[in-house]
Amino acid sequence: MTINLKNHALDEFCAVVRPFGLSEPAARRLFAHLFAHGREQVEGVRGVSPRALERLLAAAELPRLLLERRHVSPTDGFTKYLFRTRDGGRIESVLIPLPAQGGPNQRRPGTAEKRPIGHYTMCISSQVGCPLACDFCATGRMGFARNLETWEIVDQVLQVRAEAPLPVRGVVFMGQGEPFLNYDHVIRAARILSSPAGLGIAAKAITISTAGIAPAIRRYARERWKFRLAISLTAAQTDKRRLLMPIEKKYDLRELMAAVREYAATTTQRVMIEYVAMRGINCSVEDARALGALLAGLKVRFNIIEVNDAAGIYVPPTPDELARFRAALAEHLHQPVVRRYSGGQDVHAGCGMLAAFGATP
Ligand code: SF4
Repeated sequence: MTINLKNHALDEFCAVVRPFGLSEPAARRLFAHLFAHGREQVEGVRGVSPRALERLLAAAELPRLLLERRHVSPTDGFTKYLFRTRDGGRIESVLIPLPAQGGPNQRRPGTAEKRPIGHYTMCISSQVGCPLACDFCATGRMGFARNLETWEIVDQVLQVRAEAPLPVRGVVFMGQGEPFLNYDHVIRAARILSSPAGLGIAAKAITISTAGIAPAIRRYARERWKFRLAISLTAAQTDKRRLLMPIEKKYDLRELMAAVREYAATTTQRVMIEYVAMRGINCSVEDARALGALLAGLKVRFNIIEVNDAAGIYVPPTPDELARFRAALAEHLHQPVVRRYSGGQDVHAGCGMLAAFGATP
């Protein structure tokens, strides 16, 4: 069987290449060559026996996703990438520019001035499409094909990093797919991304966002990974959430929040709560009150993301509605609330818009 050299975290990688005569230090050098330096030309890696390497390469492969298209937003520099998998699947990633001082790379209000970019973060996919069919999400409307393999997740970052003019310092699993339905590959990919011999991205700068796969949240809590966990909540009442996020029928809010509380007990970090805000749907004072009750006693950071629905079925809250909602959250939630900038909307790169370029103008 052909060995895929991009499919293994460092410990597994050392074990896989050992039978070909690579010592552990040599295996580490080869791993760093592939992931830290992103080099796929592996002949002549310093400190690795050429004969052992030759034997390994005769049995191994280094596959790549095919980069088909990229669209750069003229508004904010977000760049959407379309990759094709070997079996013809189409997945997307987004390169997100961030200024050196943090926060989005938007123009300052009332000025034409943009802050200089300091580094990038990336939004990546974990599945081809998504089976969860959230009603407000373009990916959910495109259906589901399959889970991505570890290398297909990591290769998105490798290829985009190779052409980014500044370092990629963070990754969010918020592209196509539900990461916790592809748990093993996602965790292994996050380990490669965060390994100092791999891509060297700090574990706390890697965020895994789940729509609420309760058993996987419990497993994640037990395994004590240091990556950040985000919960896509979007409604605090079961009836409402069922209509917006069908996963609620399988793992309802009661079960989801029990799992989240188990996770919260294992970490000092605030749990990130993602809330897709929609006009007339989930931004009332009553919603804020329900959120206060649901999240009582948990340390959270509450991120509001205004809906991006290219189909126009859902629209963002009006400024007044949002202001009233935020005032009600201040009264009932008593936790940090952040309005998250979801950029690249003009190239359909915003949250919830990744549909394999299907809707791109
Ligand atoms: S919001 Fe996330 S979980 Fe829901 S359908 Fe879209 S990609 Fe899937």
